[in-house]
Amino acid sequence: MNILLLGPPGAGKGTQGERISDRLGIPVLATGNVLRNAVRNGTEQGRAAKSYMDRGDLVPDAVILGIIKEVLAQPDMKGGVILDGVVRTVAQAEGLNSALSDLGRHLDAVLLFEVTDEDLIRRLGGRTVCELCQTPYTGKDAGSACPKPGCGGKVVRRMDDEPDAITTRMKAYRAQTAPVVDWYRDQGSKAGRSASNANGTRVIAIDAAGAVEEVTQRVLRRLEE
Ligand code: AMP
Repeated sequence: MNILLLGPPGAGKGTQGERISDRLGIPVLATGNVLRNAVRNGTEQGRAAKSYMDRGDLVPDAVILGIIKEVLAQPDMKGGVILDGVVRTVAQAEGLNSALSDLGRHLDAVLLFEVTDEDLIRRLGGRTVCELCQTPYTGKDAGSACPKPGCGGKVVRRMDDEPDAITTRMKAYRAQTAPVVDWYRDQGSKAGRSASNANGTRVIAIDAAGAVEEVTQRVLRRLEE
């Protein structure tokens, strides 16, 4: 199954992506993680992306489309993939569709994570992340060790989880990513929230408020329908 997670920063895409990945046995591609690793490793891609990321702006489509094509072609991605934050503009949605169709695949579902702005700001304010394995944490202090077995990384605050960058990321979501939701819904489908569009993609709205496991269960139930 190929599943795209869409939603504003702080909606829980990273946390839920990992959990759904464990339950369904499908790997995750998170462009944010790929880019943060590239920045840490000082690669050309990382150098190109860093200033956009630090400000909270979107990285150019060409960089993202390059990552999508490269990663989707890897052997471990053949059985399906969970795409976390991979599509944030309509151009990227079009690019993903054609990359998948070149591989004889299609997007089965778009999960749209819905949360109030108050919840988003609260979640981002309390979020830390392992700088090595990129696992997001809530309520774990920066500077502590990542509890994931075998990781050994350090838990840090993300630079773009500070107030100015959060504001920019929210603006980018509203201006550039929110239209992607309509793009998926409109593709041949006038039939409602979870009907399939012309490409066989179901758009599923998920209430992402509440306890982490509750949200995971909601997602799994909807995917089974
Ligand atoms: P995330 O970890 O998903 O919050 O992404 C962190 C940052 O990486 C974003 O604020 C963007 O600067 C960049 N980024 C990640 N994915 C994309 C994408 N699909 N398009 C553009 N920029 C992205």
